[in-house]
Amino acid sequence: MPIEPADRLKVLPPYLFVEIDRKKREAMDAGRDVIDFGVGDPERPTPDFIIGAADAALRKPAHHRYPLGIGMSEFRASVARFFEKRYGVKPDEKREVVALIGSKEGLGHLTLAIVNPGDFTLIPDPAYPVYLSGTYFAGGRPHFMPLREENDFLPDLDAIPEEVARRSSMMFLNYPNNPTGAIATRAFFERAVAFAREHDILLVQDAAYCETFYADPPPSILQIRGANDVAVELHSLSKTFNMTGWRVGFAVGNAAALTALAKIKANFDSGVFGVVQEAAIAALEGSERPELRASREMYRQRCEVMAEGLRSFGLRVKEPAATFYVWAGLPEGLDSMAAATRLLEQADVVCVPGIGFGESGEGFIRFAMTVDLDRVKEALRRLEKVNWK
Ligand SMILES: *Cc1c(COP(=O)(O)O)cnc(C)c1O
Repeated sequence: MPIEPADRLKVLPPYLFVEIDRKKREAMDAGRDVIDFGVGDPERPTPDFIIGAADAALRKPAHHRYPLGIGMSEFRASVARFFEKRYGVKPDEKREVVALIGSKEGLGHLTLAIVNPGDFTLIPDPAYPVYLSGTYFAGGRPHFMPLREENDFLPDLDAIPEEVARRSSMMFLNYPNNPTGAIATRAFFERAVAFAREHDILLVQDAAYCETFYADPPPSILQIRGANDVAVELHSLSKTFNMTGWRVGFAVGNAAALTALAKIKANFDSGVFGVVQEAAIAALEGSERPELRASREMYRQRCEVMAEGLRSFGLRVKEPAATFYVWAGLPEGLDSMAAATRLLEQADVVCVPGIGFGESGEGFIRFAMTVDLDRVKEALRRLEKVNWK
């Protein structure tokens, strides 16, 4: 008898990029010079001051044992200070902060901690795929909230049917947004908090890109009055500090939800490596250092150059405000999979078709600007020759 995966894996949507991945590998094997704007993974190394902190921490025998629990008290205190400095609200570090092995881990486990079989979860469309897989693994049912260009890529909460809202236990939000690059206004967060309070829904705001902004820092949902009763915000050190490989983030907000999350984590993992927590403390304390400002400026410049180039080919791109993604609206009649295939075949340029993030992503392609500026310009020279009709 062959080993069969469990049914919960069979309900996951098919991986849409098989064909593009295969073509990309073929091109690379053939020695072609592929410029890859696919996965959003910073290409630069982790800043030295963070590596230095980890280096020193490695020698502490206490870190060689199980870290256990919700994170070192020094780590949670550092998160609380960061929140106070950045957002003017200070979470209670004993009850309202939990260390995560990356925010992806937190998203998955929080869903298991809160969603009962048969419950609805409210999921933006397009979105980061983990909200949907977490929902399926918990036995929940997704209800999609389309993010439309004309609505600045914010969901229309009034469009959620009352009977769905009544049976929903969780709503995912993600601002600054992957893949659209949109930021949420405080007014929108206020509406979301009011909606969640009215329907007893846990708001899970994925803030993985909160520190990748180009003008003023975008708001935290925990700045909204009453948010602590219904919201958890998940933060990640991955994108901001070039630390995707380290696996560290944190959850802040509603204490009851975090207690439930901690219970799941206590059963499935044994916490974040102490050395990584010390590196994260250094990172959070240094979040205004010049190298981080320079990193924001670098992404801003890449996004701006890319956006301008794509506009000149007739694509629709909003002024980038945050994240390192450029979300480009295709001309009428060109679908996202066909466009991505064409870019690869005609220009050796890899992007992600919007349909991969959900139905409402159709008509768009996403570029992750984790490629240096010279290569961005080279890509634009090649893209000029692509048939965009
Ligand atoms: C990258 C990303 C994450 C995951 O970040 P980790 O902390 O590395 O797990 C979560 N949400 C979104 C929207 C992302 O793009």
